[in-house]
Amino acid sequence: MDLTAKKQIILDLFTQLQRSDAPYSAILQQYKLVFTQTKTQLGSCHYGKKQISISQHILANNDIEIQIDTLKHECAHALAFAQGDRGHGSVWRQWAIKLGATPRSRTSEKIKTQAKYHLVRIQGASLQVLQRTYHRRVSLKGKYMRHDKSSLNQLYLIPLAELDAYKAGELTVNQLTLLQ
Ligand SMILES: [Zn+2]
Repeated sequence: MDLTAKKQIILDLFTQLQRSDAPYSAILQQYKLVFTQTKTQLGSCHYGKKQISISQHILANNDIEIQIDTLKHECAHALAFAQGDRGHGSVWRQWAIKLGATPRSRTSEKIKTQAKYHLVRIQGASLQVLQRTYHRRVSLKGKYMRHDKSSLNQLYLIPLAELDAYKAGELTVNQLTLLQ
């Protein structure tokens, strides 16, 4: 799923919560939803600005479930604050449970940020960018693409920055760091 589709799902969920018949919808209607580039926080709820923020960087690099949970988590903050409660106390926890968010302060799941390597296939001087990225090095010796054994030992990882430079025409295939 691409980032645009993920953002739409998050936005639709927020709109749905705002439009529900539940009494809390009026409180959520005071808030607006924004997407941010932060890498260190899943999301946040700003009571003064009446703003719920969701990291689109983390959204882009993880399963959408993580940020669905974050949206509900932050909505629970907005609702708890309307009752004078900050942080992750009992009022917040009740709202979190009601909205279906994990009722704890931070998810313990591993959050992925930007991947470091991209998978490519090299045949002679031609480079094919495959739809897969990695956060750490993996060994590709003796590996091939599923359903295509002719790709045996043609798979490599290249650092993302180098792939960008290659796409921009600043590096040739011979100049790339190919990791196998
Ligand atoms: Zn929180």
